[in-house]
Amino acid sequence: MAPGLPRGAGSREGPGNRMTREDGLRRALVGLTLGGVKASPQTQIRLLELADLDAELARLDHRRRGLPEIAELVRLEARASELKDALVVTETELGDLAREQSRAERDVEQVRVRIEKDRARLDAGQVSAARELASLQSEIENLHRRQGDLEEVVLELMERRETLESQRDEVTTDRESLGAEIATVTARRDEAFAEIDEQAAKASDQRGGIAADVPADLLALYDQVRKTKGVGAAMLRAGRCEGCHLNVDAADLKVIRAAAPDDVVRCEECRRILIRTPESGL
Ligand SMILES: [Zn+2]
Repeated sequence: MAPGLPRGAGSREGPGNRMTREDGLRRALVGLTLGGVKASPQTQIRLLELADLDAELARLDHRRRGLPEIAELVRLEARASELKDALVVTETELGDLAREQSRAERDVEQVRVRIEKDRARLDAGQVSAARELASLQSEIENLHRRQGDLEEVVLELMERRETLESQRDEVTTDRESLGAEIATVTARRDEAFAEIDEQAAKASDQRGGIAADVPADLLALYDQVRKTKGVGAAMLRAGRCEGCHLNVDAADLKVIRAAAPDDVVRCEECRRILIRTPESGL
């Protein structure tokens, strides 16, 4: 809205939408046409090619970012990280159990050596006093019990290790097949990326060629609109803007009809540059 114009002046909403000639001129100035930017109809029509290529580039970008392989990889990587953590936990526990088992085995060995010594003393007849003999025999019995207990501990530890080892092997197998799956999906994603990038490079090249033919001021205007709208120009077809798909109202059509062929006109609704063709319904 130009300074000095009351808010809502020329708005198509509400009553009092009847335009005076002065209103129309003012609107033509502030809304539809662009003071300064003029271009031949042939040049203007090239903006439609730019718009098509920009739409194509946007579509490719959208497709690239929305590839199902990307979401699938996120899921697979999360699972891989879970398995990795599980593996670390299992390996740590296995290490602890191995140390515990060696300790218990050392204890068994100590007890066994002690029993042997006691037996040697008995067999050598070194102990003759009845009380001492009874005490030594009782110690040997106790040591045997202790040995039995310790051996049971060792067995139990071995069983726990075996269970954990088979768990670890399962996790390792899962990781391997997951790794293969990740590689497959990554390859599929990269293939899609390559295809999309190739198409995008082609479209960008074409775009560059056309942009080089468009005068700088018109291109700057187009690019300014493109920043917010994705594409900066649209065809006026049968009185309708093909950018926002809204009908251009009668008053605006009148202004457009009155505009010179090299005036650059814009859609009042979406602000895209409107390209006039024989199909515009003017
Ligand atoms: Zn529009």
